[in-house]
Amino acid sequence: MGMPVGRHTSMIAVIGAFAGGSSTFRLYPTRRRFILTPSMSKQTLPTMETLVGFCKRKGIIYPSSEIYGGYNGFFDYGPIGAEIKRNIKDAWWRDMVHRRDDIVGLDASIIMHPAIWKASGHIDGFSDPMVDCKTSKMRYRADQLFFAPVIVEGETIGYVCVLESGGMQAEAEAAAEKMKRKLAKQGELEPIKLKDYTAAREDEYARIPSPATGEPGSLTAPRDFNLMFETNVGALRDAASVAYLRPETAQGIFQNFKNVVDTTRVKIPFGIAQIGKAFRNEITPRNFIFRSREFEQMEMEYFIDSDDATWQKVYREWLDWCKQWLLSIGIPEDMISEDVHPPEKLSHYSKGTTDIMFEFPFGKQELWGIACRGNFDLTQHQQHSGKSMEIFDEARKQKYIPHVVEPALGVDRTFLAILTAAYCEDEVDGDKRTVLKLHPRIAPYKVAVLPLVKNKPALVEKAQEIYTRLQKRWHCAWDSAAAIGRRYRRQDEIGTPYCVTIDFETIEQDNKVTVRDRDTTEQMRLNEDALMQFLSEKLDV
Ligand code: ATP
Repeated sequence: MGMPVGRHTSMIAVIGAFAGGSSTFRLYPTRRRFILTPSMSKQTLPTMETLVGFCKRKGIIYPSSEIYGGYNGFFDYGPIGAEIKRNIKDAWWRDMVHRRDDIVGLDASIIMHPAIWKASGHIDGFSDPMVDCKTSKMRYRADQLFFAPVIVEGETIGYVCVLESGGMQAEAEAAAEKMKRKLAKQGELEPIKLKDYTAAREDEYARIPSPATGEPGSLTAPRDFNLMFETNVGALRDAASVAYLRPETAQGIFQNFKNVVDTTRVKIPFGIAQIGKAFRNEITPRNFIFRSREFEQMEMEYFIDSDDATWQKVYREWLDWCKQWLLSIGIPEDMISEDVHPPEKLSHYSKGTTDIMFEFPFGKQELWGIACRGNFDLTQHQQHSGKSMEIFDEARKQKYIPHVVEPALGVDRTFLAILTAAYCEDEVDGDKRTVLKLHPRIAPYKVAVLPLVKNKPALVEKAQEIYTRLQKRWHCAWDSAAAIGRRYRRQDEIGTPYCVTIDFETIEQDNKVTVRDRDTTEQMRLNEDALMQFLSEKLDV
């Protein structure tokens, strides 16, 4: 446990603007060699392997049921992960509900009357096309399986088949080259044009190789697989007792639409927001928490008048709001983009859908869907329940069923996006460190309090006093074990924005503490009041 080195007064000016009171530098350990870049660039994205291992080691995310060998598609959030997840949800709720006058919250039950899922179309249509490999017993989503004929000088010499990924084109081309060599075919290989398996013709099924075995003939034709988890409600297990775990939170909002209108003072335009669990029996859960079978959604239905000018404006406003919100929780702007669904891909009732895409380590994928769903859902519930979903327009003296714009976001996908953007590896004083550059709103601990030594009662007592004061405002960590440098690294790894160190000078001389910044590793001395003011400015954002 090293004593602090002398102050680096040359740097005082740099930090003078930080907070009131005199501020001077103290570095534990001695020198900062690298100033960190403010955000990740695409070249430095961590691999999924790195993230998964890191999450396990640091108590962020564990595979579910690990002592029984794990359970595919399910995950548990550990002590650090549970805090981060809660912070994501709190930030969304605060900005979406508390900081707006036109949106109210809801918390509907997970299991609802099965008629809801008939009305919404989920019983008949919430399915993915599934393909089985008869040899390996592997199961695939047909729209995530890509194939192409391998054509040499006009002759089809076989087929290649790959799983959807950022590198699938290169993978398919390499497989085609290999096939050509193996069959000793001369001539030019035609470009490999991948199509997903739902577009395969019947006569092609027998020729497309299974990705599991590399051999053709074992893949079945695609068939629909409903993603809803079934359960039974009540003592009898028969057809009449079948119910479903909700596959989305949105229907809980639609079926309560009239309740909210009749019991609160909302007026069009207004929104109802909900955060909660959703369940989908995904055929191929993959990419860690990106696609799991149990996840959480943050959905909001914004009810509006039906005319064209209104929905287009509201749609654009929500798209912008969603992008801004992602930036406000620390997602770098250059990692997100928009994917506008072409008209032929829209559902019959949808007027427009745009996905906000994020650069995950496995490629650009949907993070947030913003959909104009017309008045399809409310109309369906009106028809199926026999209850009116209309509201009365005072100005026009007319009844109508409102239309809706729906921003639907996954908590877990947001978590993965945040981790991808925040994870950094760098070097400080010649030591490698891992740092999670989390936005203060998302960081699991906001401040760590570190008494320099643990065997000096007066020093520990002072640290404890400061810790208790800080704990009243923020979630704080206490760490008194190991050398100070190691303790800083521990906090860097879990994304704690500030460390507060109490040393001998604090108790013997000036009553000031050292505050260390996670990202820059810069340090300054502040008295207690200045510390509180500084942390308020930095953390209460
Ligand atoms: P995908 O096309 O990726 O299956 P989706 O378009 O079916 O997603 P929605 O039904 O619009 O997704 O759900 C809204 C949001 O819920 C998605 O944008 C995503 O963030 C999240 N989400 C959907 N399915 C899953 C899943 N299996 N695991 C984790 N998050 C999910």
